[in-house]
Amino acid sequence: MARIIEEWLNSCSGCEIAILNIGDVLVDLLPSLQFVHIPVLIDKKYYGQTGEGKTLEIPEADVAIVSGGVKNEEHLEVLEMCRKRANILVALGTCATDGGIPALGNMYGNQAIRDFSYRESPTTVPGPDPDTETYHIPAMLENCGALDDHVKVDIKLPGCPPHPDWIAAAVLALLDGKPENLKLPERSVCDTCPTIRERKKGGELKRMLQTPEFDPEKPVSEMRCLLEQGFMCLGPVTRAGCSGLKGEAPRCISTRMPCRGCYGPIKEDSKPLMDYVGALASVGYDPARMLDRKGFLCRFNGAHGVLHAVKQPKQK
Ligand code: SF4
Ligand code: SF4
Ligand code: SF4
Repeated sequence: MARIIEEWLNSCSGCEIAILNIGDVLVDLLPSLQFVHIPVLIDKKYYGQTGEGKTLEIPEADVAIVSGGVKNEEHLEVLEMCRKRANILVALGTCATDGGIPALGNMYGNQAIRDFSYRESPTTVPGPDPDTETYHIPAMLENCGALDDHVKVDIKLPGCPPHPDWIAAAVLALLDGKPENLKLPERSVCDTCPTIRERKKGGELKRMLQTPEFDPEKPVSEMRCLLEQGFMCLGPVTRAGCSGLKGEAPRCISTRMPCRGCYGPIKEDSKPLMDYVGALASVGYDPARMLDRKGFLCRFNGAHGVLHAVKQPKQK
């Protein structure tokens, strides 16, 4: 019986839904798992059930599965305690492995985030920042980080959210005592994409929300590559695996949508910015026409110091 901690930090809970989406396999695995701490399902308070405790309480476990990135002092304290309590730490989802969408805020800095959230957003009645002392709101860290910006991580399962097949494969490898058997693909979404490539552009650059050309009566394998149609598909610089282990077409491509990069970089030492400029040029697009290059290409991987605060021009 493996004792499991499941924690969510700066998380939207989509990764927890992905765990449930394992489906029947999860039902088969449950007798071998004991969730000793899982706030998404169990009302377990951190400082005693009535707040009487003085120290953070997380029980010991064999494995801690942690989703979400690290943006405030509470996330960091909980993560460090998970690391201390568990033998193996699994980073679940791209927020945990690479920063994910929340790390886009690293381009702006905390003051700009507060200004926009509490005063400048068109749908917000302007007001002061919340009173952090009175309401015990944990202080924000300077940047939103991935888990391994702060602690050692043993297994990384990227994806926003990760495909349930990968979560099940990781749990099975852990139950077998062979986490090294879990091998994530080190190839690109393009390498698993069945669309037709002619290695030349087939139209001008388009907005992502425009509809690509395809025949709805025909399979995706008879659609022209979306990058060659002029869509900024991030398949060339994104890790494969989003369709799981059954060899199906990448998730977005199968719905005729460009890849947005949610599986993060292909390898830890990838250079997506440079590689994508090369991919654009190879089919005849001018990379200089790409707006907000860093925000676009690093949408899911702004942790690890990739995105920094830059002075923003004042909005008119
Ligand atoms: S990786 Fe995606 S699904 Fe998972 S917590 Fe982050 S935003 Fe949500
Ligand atoms: S660029 Fe996009 S559509 Fe083209 S092959 Fe790669 S993943 Fe498929
Ligand atoms: S196609 Fe790209 S954005 Fe879509 S699920 Fe796969 S990796 Fe994520």
